[in-house]
Amino acid sequence: MRPNEVVLGSLLGACKVHRMHELGERLVRDLVLMYPYNTEHHVLLSNMYALSGKIDKADSLRRDLRDKGIRKVPGISTMYINGKIHQFSAGEKSHPRINEIYLMLDVMIRELKLAGYVPDTTSQIISGGGSGGGDDDTNEQEEKERALLSHSEKLAVCFGLISTKAGTPLYIFKNLRICQDCHSALKIASKIYSREIVIRDRNRFHSFKNGLCSCSDYW
Ligand SMILES: [Zn+2]
Ligand SMILES: [Zn+2]
Repeated sequence: MRPNEVVLGSLLGACKVHRMHELGERLVRDLVLMYPYNTEHHVLLSNMYALSGKIDKADSLRRDLRDKGIRKVPGISTMYINGKIHQFSAGEKSHPRINEIYLMLDVMIRELKLAGYVPDTTSQIISGGGSGGGDDDTNEQEEKERALLSHSEKLAVCFGLISTKAGTPLYIFKNLRICQDCHSALKIASKIYSREIVIRDRNRFHSFKNGLCSCSDYW
């Protein structure tokens, strides 16, 4: 039987956890060939190239996508609260309670950091960046961190925290895979806010509870 996307995806997750970059790269290359329109794999491969210093490979992959007219699918987190559907995209601006949500996000990030959270900007590659120096690097770093902190699932959790009673579990549906940074942030959030946070992403369910996730960090 030939392995499908789910099997290769799980193995890939394990490669990431155990930092087996070469095998991981090979798997992503296969996935990109098998599913040329699933941009998640392209983005992952381009990030892997960038992380291992193969910047020109990363750039040429991005160029390739652009030339083929393939756009990255935006990540959307969806919640059903008080009889209404609420949707969030990364850096969301249009939700009616967006100001309160960002205020909550500031508070949450501060509390997460106090509890040991360190934003993992290595999973966030911003295109157009390069090997600049000095101020550029600092700016790029800040930009990466800002983009990372406003991922759709973090915004959805903040909305859930301000619009439901203490202790209510939060259920979120995400159209793409949850990223590593959101995964570690939400583990901590489940503990400091004593909330169960359940996220159904493209691959599986994650039930965050008391600082741990039901996937045991394999996803
Ligand atoms: Zn994320
Ligand atoms: Zn998980």
